[in-house]
Amino acid sequence: MGFVSHRVDRKEIKPGDHIYTWRTAFAYAHHGIYVGENKVVHFTTGEKGYKSIQDSCLTCPDCGFHKNGSGVVLSCLDCFIGTGSLYLFQYGTNTYVHISRLRGGTCTIAKSDPPQEVIHRAMYLLQNGFGNYSLVLNNCEDFALYCKTSLLGSNWDEAGSSGQVNGWVMSPLNVIVSSAVKVFRCSTPVAAVVGTGMHCLSRYMTDIGVRKDVVKIKVEDMALLRS
Ligand SMILES: [Zn+2]
Repeated sequence: MGFVSHRVDRKEIKPGDHIYTWRTAFAYAHHGIYVGENKVVHFTTGEKGYKSIQDSCLTCPDCGFHKNGSGVVLSCLDCFIGTGSLYLFQYGTNTYVHISRLRGGTCTIAKSDPPQEVIHRAMYLLQNGFGNYSLVLNNCEDFALYCKTSLLGSNWDEAGSSGQVNGWVMSPLNVIVSSAVKVFRCSTPVAAVVGTGMHCLSRYMTDIGVRKDVVKIKVEDMALLRS
């Protein structure tokens, strides 16, 4: 595994791992929980997401399995990775490492629960659903983060846990920085450096391992909450 990129070989991953793959020329990453035997449970936009899996998979008969109306889907590892590469999401990273990451959605300060609990949550949600998919509030990364930690923001319907979204969208600091840049008319390189630093800091402050509004919610209660 590379120190910076977290890129892994498929032989290196273990059941209960949170894995991800970059899609559409690195514009966003798709996240899931590896549950063993070449299978991944992940959260998709719904019909379109699993239809393409079912149509394209030739090797795995239960690829694309999902409950009616649920975006949580089971697929083989090949279909999950698609044409991308495989990466391992990092848990329990220290503050320095977390802030130094330029890109959100690759690590968290929160600790992972034991693999059997993670797999239990993923399989339970495969049967019971994870609510409606929303890019900002409830996406594939939120799903994987929840399975790994059972942590959920008390205002989960206003702010998701996703690092790749929170770095840019949910950050009041980004607004402050862009206003400051306008007021002081910083030269572009300075603005870019300040913006990047603030982006990393704001992502740190919205990390589920740092936020104070997160609570552990049992998966059995979770399904009721989002049904
Ligand atoms: Zn497949």
